[in-house]
Amino acid sequence: MTVSKTETLILGAGLTGLSCAYHLRDGARYRIVEREAQVGGLARTRQRPHGFLCDGTGHWLHLRREPTKKLVDDLLGDNLEARTRRARVYSKGVFTLYPFQANTFGLPKDVVAECLKGLIDARFNEEHGEAKNYKEWIRQNFGEGICKHFMYPYNEKIYGVPLDTLASNFASRYIPQPSIEAVVDGALGLSREALGYNAQFVYPKRGGIGALGESLKAGLERDVELGRQPVSIDLPRREVKMDDGETIAFDHLVNTIPLPRLIELLVEGDAGSVPEAIVAASKRLRANSVLYFDVAIKGAPKEHQDYHWIYLPEREFPFYRVGSYSAVERSLAPEGHRSYYVEMGHYGDVDPSKFEQGVMDGLKRLGLVEDEDDILFMIPNVLSPAYVLFDAEYEASRAAVLEWLESSRIISVGRYGRWQYNAMEDALLEGMEAAETIAAARGTGE
Ligand SMILES: Cc1cc2nc3c(=O)[nH]c(=O)nc-3n(C[C@H](O)[C@H](O)[C@H](O)COP(=O)(O)OP(=O)(O)OC[C@H]3O[C@@H](n4cnc5c(N)ncnc54)[C@H](O)[C@@H]3O)c2cc1C
Repeated sequence: MTVSKTETLILGAGLTGLSCAYHLRDGARYRIVEREAQVGGLARTRQRPHGFLCDGTGHWLHLRREPTKKLVDDLLGDNLEARTRRARVYSKGVFTLYPFQANTFGLPKDVVAECLKGLIDARFNEEHGEAKNYKEWIRQNFGEGICKHFMYPYNEKIYGVPLDTLASNFASRYIPQPSIEAVVDGALGLSREALGYNAQFVYPKRGGIGALGESLKAGLERDVELGRQPVSIDLPRREVKMDDGETIAFDHLVNTIPLPRLIELLVEGDAGSVPEAIVAASKRLRANSVLYFDVAIKGAPKEHQDYHWIYLPEREFPFYRVGSYSAVERSLAPEGHRSYYVEMGHYGDVDPSKFEQGVMDGLKRLGLVEDEDDILFMIPNVLSPAYVLFDAEYEASRAAVLEWLESSRIISVGRYGRWQYNAMEDALLEGMEAAETIAAARGTGE
């Protein structure tokens, strides 16, 4: 059987894999394979019936670093437009501003009082030891009222697991921690500042977020091999066997597919080359899945139907968030129509058909759907893995697997290649850095 040879083989053409290929430049020196028929991974845009374009739930770009700002500008140029967040929280029958903890104005007065008093107690009156888990961490930082009315139910709905099984401060980068002054202002309806990491973002004017991956692909010096996936990886021989029988020998392997799957492929290729401890550690890596529905509706949006996204902490709604693609970018829906994504978090298998009615009822209660006959489609999708779970086993298991891969000269990068919580900007950077590592290894003859 013939064995093809490439200097670098990239597994997965999401933003990380595409960015790596783009920065490797010379198309004669790499190959890139992707299981799906389209590039972009999580950040791809699907063409839906009636001319709707839907991303894989909301994908808004936050660019903070110069190399990624320049890269995205080179790729998208004037297709990119700045947007200012229009987000709300819906609870107790009212829409309040986001984030909940700094904007309780509009909620029933007893709820506002409970939130303020709880925060003041947590910050000034209570003694806290080091938080042992995520539930304790949010309780220490926000107090009982905010936790009861938002943090506990909202986070349980996203992650699908008990919050005391998660590590203490994994989400601190993403959760705004306002000052007492901002919280008091927010309780009185005086909030001035946009809080949080996602108050402003950029988004393409044409093509949805998928335009980013597509423009990376267009800039490659060779084609992405779509609809192909590995069935085993033989580490001692440094060869990957593909599902159509081809064997590809590589010097460098850049992995962006989920870490547990990579280890399975390595075991399949040569079980003896993967230490048992690494196989065991990879099996301890857990993630939830996100079921979401793309929903298309006839009729132009009224004000409350046109928020960019709405957080829903209450359990009577099966979903934790509803976003609107068309509210962010009108061209994603045909004229006189609107479109949404409705997200639900789970741990373990999920059957979308069990959630359709609950989603429909919730959308009606929210006033996003007035008449069921206006709905053009409601298409379910499952992202799995979606959010990696930072539990007690996470740090040590992940470190063991990544260290072993590094010692085996496999570069594993990206959201699931490093089994982490990251954003599109990080994915672009990690792909860029993987390409630099390979270029540097060439210099040393490694
Ligand atoms: C619900 C959700 C919302 C998000 N919202 C935002 C946001 O608003 N802003 C933001 O910046 N980031 C957001 N992110 C994060 C963002 O999607 C990721 O950081 C980024 O897309 C990760 O890119 P990646 O290439 O590392 O991974 P992926 O996109 O997962 O790419 C991996 C690729 O590998 C392919 N693949 C998998 N298995 C195989 C296999 N066996 N063989 C071949 N190919 C395979 C996949 O099909 C995929 O194309 C969100 C993530 C989620 C889950």
